[in-house]
Amino acid sequence: MGSDNRYLSIHQVTIKCKDLNKKLSQVYWCSVILLPKTTIKDIEKVFKGFLWTGGILTKGKAKVAWKMVCKPQEEGGLGIRDLQTWNKALLTRQIWRLTKVKNSLWMDWVNIHHLHKHTFWEVKSKDLEGFSWSNMLALRDKLWKHIWKTPGDGNNINLWYDNWHSAGPLTKIIPVEEKDSHDLKNTMTLQQFCSNHGTGWPWGWDSRYPPLRAQNLPILQTNKKDTVWWRDREGNKKDFNPTQVWKDIRTINPTVSWYKVVWFKLNIHSHAFIFWLAIQDRLMTHERMLSWNTSNNLKCLFCKEVPDSIKHLFFDCKYSREVWKQVCKICFLHTSGTDMYQIVNSLQQRSHTTHIHTDIDRMAVAATIYFIWRERNLRYHNGSNIPHMKLANEIFNTLKARLCGTELKWSKHMEEVCGKWKIARPRRWHPTKADDHGR
Ligand SMILES: [Zn+2]
Repeated sequence: MGSDNRYLSIHQVTIKCKDLNKKLSQVYWCSVILLPKTTIKDIEKVFKGFLWTGGILTKGKAKVAWKMVCKPQEEGGLGIRDLQTWNKALLTRQIWRLTKVKNSLWMDWVNIHHLHKHTFWEVKSKDLEGFSWSNMLALRDKLWKHIWKTPGDGNNINLWYDNWHSAGPLTKIIPVEEKDSHDLKNTMTLQQFCSNHGTGWPWGWDSRYPPLRAQNLPILQTNKKDTVWWRDREGNKKDFNPTQVWKDIRTINPTVSWYKVVWFKLNIHSHAFIFWLAIQDRLMTHERMLSWNTSNNLKCLFCKEVPDSIKHLFFDCKYSREVWKQVCKICFLHTSGTDMYQIVNSLQQRSHTTHIHTDIDRMAVAATIYFIWRERNLRYHNGSNIPHMKLANEIFNTLKARLCGTELKWSKHMEEVCGKWKIARPRRWHPTKADDHGR
């Protein structure tokens, strides 16, 4: 269990993990080799330690599987990048260079040592080749569909293996026998092919291979270089960078319906984190503890009647129910529902709006869950005994401080909120045009 005061710094911890992700992109080895699984595990252990214990990770302290943590917020995670995919995305820089630059000392070296008259996309991996090279070859399947070329002079486009035709690489459309019967080599460039065939396909190809009809051979421009571009998973043209690559090669998971209820601009990060754990039933409640051991003396620290659980704490228990009732009253909430799941459900329906009342309701439910959980743990460790009215007032004051300390747009609704909450309108809140006029 333990006090959750350290969660006050959870935002910094997540930032720190994200920062480590960034730092790794500057580490030379992360961009040239796929890190061994054991190394990835060791680095992740440091990340996990930061997140769950604020130091070194000890057994049983992780509350949510790391795989889950590494999902984006809209998919139910904390938005930390998983290292294995990030490492692959960083390594892609080398492959990008390889496909983009034709004449360079490095390309000459690659041609002599690795390609031997093959192309990067079809050369076979050999046992004794360098670690870094075989790592690059291992990524080909994932990247092929994303690296596209627009013809200029056609000199840097491989006829068969590069994506330049809208139907995809010709090698996937035209069988090897056809290629061989015309004596067309694997390394043939689009320029070489076009100089032999002009702008029309060899006789009979478009009737035998219908996908070719989608696009004729291009008219090449001798004074224009071919361009290479990154195609995202939706087919849009994007600038190449490791973040874009990461977005396109990672596994996409279904969006969770509740993420906008937990994560939004005005949220208080430590509250959002506990709310995130509660919503996934990952707080160490009695119910969870009982699923692991047989001790049955556990009783809710508030009502002393039953072992606590997410459902009981938020807000079936008579103590927490009173706290929530009071918060609804003094914070002028517009939320319906008497337990966390009902409340989340009703907030979900409103989460597309940017209404200040929606923000306050979302902040209030997260704050109530956070403060009840904190009080529950303080009762266990320090014998705390804050009455429900006092706790509700503490929640109100925390939310009020948050509202006062944030730059907000002035609106009629804000005016109403300020009136009810007795907040003097802070100077740094954005004035509307009408306000400016009145001064
Ligand atoms: Zn209780």
